[in-house]
Amino acid sequence: MAKKVKYIFITGGVVSSIGKGITAASLGLLLKRRGFRVTIQKFAPYINVDPGTMNPFQHGEVYVTDDGAETDLDLGHYERYLDVGMTQANNTTTGQVYHEVITRERRGDYLGATVQVIPHITDEIKRRMTKLGMMNEYDVVVTEIGGTVGDIESLPFIEAMRQLTLELGRKHTLFMHVTYVPEIKAAGELKTKPTQHSVKTLLGYGIQPEILVCRSEMKLSRPIRNKIALFCNVEPKQVVSAYDCATIYEVPLILNRERLDQIVLKRLGLADKKLQLAGWEEMVARIKNPAKQVEIAVCGKYIDYRDAYKSISEAFVHAGAENDAEVKIRWVDAEALEEGEIEKALKNVDGLLVPGGFGERGIQGKINAIQYARENDVPFFGICLGLQCAVIEFARNVCDIKRANSAEFKKTSRYAVIDLMPDQKNVKNLGGSMRLGAYPCDVQPETKAYEAYDVRYITERHRHRFEVNNKFRRRLAEGGLVFSGLSPDGELVEIAELPDKRWFLGCQFHPELKSRADRAHPLFREFVAAALGYRQEKDSEKKGK
Ligand code: GLN
Repeated sequence: MAKKVKYIFITGGVVSSIGKGITAASLGLLLKRRGFRVTIQKFAPYINVDPGTMNPFQHGEVYVTDDGAETDLDLGHYERYLDVGMTQANNTTTGQVYHEVITRERRGDYLGATVQVIPHITDEIKRRMTKLGMMNEYDVVVTEIGGTVGDIESLPFIEAMRQLTLELGRKHTLFMHVTYVPEIKAAGELKTKPTQHSVKTLLGYGIQPEILVCRSEMKLSRPIRNKIALFCNVEPKQVVSAYDCATIYEVPLILNRERLDQIVLKRLGLADKKLQLAGWEEMVARIKNPAKQVEIAVCGKYIDYRDAYKSISEAFVHAGAENDAEVKIRWVDAEALEEGEIEKALKNVDGLLVPGGFGERGIQGKINAIQYARENDVPFFGICLGLQCAVIEFARNVCDIKRANSAEFKKTSRYAVIDLMPDQKNVKNLGGSMRLGAYPCDVQPETKAYEAYDVRYITERHRHRFEVNNKFRRRLAEGGLVFSGLSPDGELVEIAELPDKRWFLGCQFHPELKSRADRAHPLFREFVAAALGYRQEKDSEKKGK
């Protein structure tokens, strides 16, 4: 008989944003590094079918998988820690569940029955909760339930979880609750009451969480652990202290010291295989004690809400670790740059990154910043919209196409150096209809792109509707822009660069989505290396004076 898959369910209590995703990813990593095949999935309680149509201010970044799913940003954490490819099946939303059930109802699949939350919605949730487990590819499936216990929205997920425990057996399922233990500074005390309430709410739903991962600023003391254990009906050793630390990549090490993985193994009857954290520990040490420092400006329009650029900031952490440097990010508001404040805003930065984005707001500021970087030979990295802005800037200021623009901002421009892709022309629905997911790219030899990748054929993930207009390719090339990455048929520009600059490169895809904690993305690695080189040059010039 095939070994039974183990299911670990993670809920969150008290407040959101306490790091359920990081906890899930960290536990996943610890189990993977003990030789188990692990995957993680997220169940999000909103009605949107996916976060693709949501404003980044609402939801943060949209994380795109190889198979083109637009998913929750927590899937980014899962991939960065586990280095296991996520797919559409790893992200379920309430919207998808209802969509599926209502489609079946219209087809007549439930003919005669009244369609209800229990059993129809919960059955569909259970089908999705066990889908990855049925594939015979994993020993452990970790499921993170979005939202906070007590929300009306997440109730069907919790009910499905409860039912599954009965169906799969207690030996194969485990409930973990990530909760928050606040400190009242004036009294110098950690407060356990919110955790008690949150666990009580779960108990009301028929669920006794067996492991409590308690987020707090400082490590929980023995008496506090005992108190939580007593009131929440668990043993003190099942109260795990996840206190604040220097980097999110240290969380697995802390949870291991708290014996979280051992508790899980024992409870689920999994073999206590040796934990191999080699490589990870060194990476964390480098992040905590970097030898060098470099400052990079990220110029976008969502800078007040950093979750919108989550994968980019993390990719810089990875690239920094590989270069033994701390990458400090200077967040620059693209809109503020339109007033001609460029020099002040970018003063002394060692590199400029213009990330992806949509819509015209802030575009001129981004173009101005890119012009500054190009003219002053500051290392530049443009991602998706960032590449498109760099092409517009180059067309206007180098190729003398003064009215060059993107069709995204000026629909009928005769100088649309960035134009709608042909297969986007008849798109009516906005959801899930962009060029999404992994596509191959042919990297041209003897370019900065090739130097970084060191292979000819790569695949990278996309999320866009517009592209470099082939009608202008010749003119741009004559001006000196090199198209260093193309789709295999040569029809789509995937990477463009300026060879006579220190490092000036833009790509149509999102490399940040493929950067891993212990394997930085080659383009980020090289960009950071170039920024470090530039900083060194500036420093020795200063010394020489
Ligand atoms: N808005 C641009 C497009 O659709 C860029 C998208 C992006 O940066 N992800 O092509």
